[in-house]
Amino acid sequence: MSHGVDRLWSVSEHLDNILGQLSPLDPIDLQLLDAQGCVLVEDVRVPTSLPPFPNSSMDGYAVRVADTKAATSEHPAVLDVIGDIAAGSGELPTVGPGQAARIMTGAPLPQGAEAVVPVEWTDGGKGGGPADSMASFGGDPAGASGEVRVYRAPETGQFVRARGSDVTAGELALAAGTVLGAPQIGLLAAIGRGTVTVRPRPRVVVVSTGSELVQPGERLTPGRIHDSNSFALTAAARDAGAIAYRVGAVADEVETLRATIEDQLIRADVVVTSGGVSVGAYDVVKEALSTLGGSFGEGAEDAAGHVDFRRLAMQPGKPQGFGRIGPERTPLLALPGNPVSAYVSFEMFVRPVIRTLMGAGDVHRRVVQAACTTAIEDSPDGRRQFLRAQYDKRSGAVTPVGGAASHLVKALAHADALIVVPEAVTSLAAGSEVDVVLLD
Ligand code: AMP
Ligand code: MG
Repeated sequence: MSHGVDRLWSVSEHLDNILGQLSPLDPIDLQLLDAQGCVLVEDVRVPTSLPPFPNSSMDGYAVRVADTKAATSEHPAVLDVIGDIAAGSGELPTVGPGQAARIMTGAPLPQGAEAVVPVEWTDGGKGGGPADSMASFGGDPAGASGEVRVYRAPETGQFVRARGSDVTAGELALAAGTVLGAPQIGLLAAIGRGTVTVRPRPRVVVVSTGSELVQPGERLTPGRIHDSNSFALTAAARDAGAIAYRVGAVADEVETLRATIEDQLIRADVVVTSGGVSVGAYDVVKEALSTLGGSFGEGAEDAAGHVDFRRLAMQPGKPQGFGRIGPERTPLLALPGNPVSAYVSFEMFVRPVIRTLMGAGDVHRRVVQAACTTAIEDSPDGRRQFLRAQYDKRSGAVTPVGGAASHLVKALAHADALIVVPEAVTSLAAGSEVDVVLLD
């Protein structure tokens, strides 16, 4: 491999160089739902036990076990119903000998009671025969009164959720490092936490470049194409966990691009551009960013930061730019413009950046080994090639879709994996084991 300005960088050299310059974003306090998908940075302890009080797990009757011990269908225990306890009841009756209180699921167990008899084990207070599985409460729906017949004896504590049976005060609810999914957010809410300290989602600004680009929904004129990269990359950034902002395509004009990026820096933790990084005459990103003048800082190039443009031993995705710009040294990744190159570059470089800034444990996509169902030919020597493919989890086989050309967006849309053909490999026989990057 040759050195100097024009040497080829390997995929991992480029990635390591990028990640080595980044650290996770500073933690912030967020409302629970804003913290979804984020990594917790505090150990969260339980302030008060759950359940906070013993409560019923069934609709039924709160009883003293001595009163129902001998109850059978032939010889039911007949108890005086002294009241009705709904979930949320604050003032509770005391259940004395020979008494029962009608109780609903989640309602506090009253003093004196030691168990709950499900309504299905009673006559529901209707004074009829044994209740069936469709049993329900009879009598006065607002306030229970009268008698209830109990046909079966509960054990002490049966159908009662003990105080602290879920979590006890002082216990660790969730450890720092936990990714907050739906059940974790549910637990935080249950223990009364309104906010939590997490690493925030990075804000990613996506800018596509190209004077040929037209917004989808608008009519194409000769020579023009729809901007697909800014949509794909914004969606991919969201998938990776970022808050992503899509900026409409910028024409191939150096000053317009510089001004656009400068305007966006205020809301960006990462800037991603597409297009304009090759060696063509209108490679605007390269031109605008390889020398940064006054627009990103105090006038000195040092204050403005620096973006390096590199050639990678990779296919697709050979031209890549990375640097840190503006007063906050915001990371900027300049991706090539071909849609497949842009997307593969996102997966290889931008996704790990987002995951690193979030403090996530899983920075990289999962890689598995699979047997490739077809032969692979003409893989470029000296480049790591990423082929779009479909992975079959059940058979553990992988099949290329579409060709290697980097304008094939349909094949990309039908792929769920990337086959990795190593640098030194130029062809593979059908059935060969290959590394496969799983995209979902
Ligand atoms: P560039 O890297 O700017 O030379 O672009 C390489 C190829 O990708 C050209 O064919 C462009 O028209 C195409 N391209 C660039 N940007 C986009 C975009 N945002 N959406 C779709 N195609 C694009
Ligand atoms: Mg272009």
